[in-house]
Amino acid sequence: MRPARGESTFVVHCSSSLYMPYFQDFVRGELSLRNYSLLAIPGGIQSLTLEEYLPKFSWAAWRHIKFLMDLDAPARIVLIGHDDCRWYHHGPITRFTGPERQRQETDLRKVATAWRDRFPGSAIDSYYGILANRKATFEPVR
Ligand SMILES: [Zn+2]
Repeated sequence: MRPARGESTFVVHCSSSLYMPYFQDFVRGELSLRNYSLLAIPGGIQSLTLEEYLPKFSWAAWRHIKFLMDLDAPARIVLIGHDDCRWYHHGPITRFTGPERQRQETDLRKVATAWRDRFPGSAIDSYYGILANRKATFEPVR
């Protein structure tokens, strides 16, 4: 059943096939979300940070988000990054250097701020997933 306007959750994460079952387990299990809107693209939220470098990527991603924000007015936003993301290693923007986790956490914070600027009052939770021994752990990013 579709949640009522103002009561839904909107999730953004990478389209990684490796992490997909772990994303789903986390969102459905740990976060107890059954019906939620999802934007899953390579690198997850990273495209949203590329206004300077790849403005068309950024524009398209924000446009998709605006569509769902206007339609659903979700009560909660969940942004999820993950370890060893191929987009961060092999995507169009590989000139950024530094530890991947640090880069992703910086991007998650940057996007949360930009999201609140665009959609005031948004309640946003960010997480970073790490897979080890076939078990994923999702740690909050503050
Ligand atoms: Zn990824």
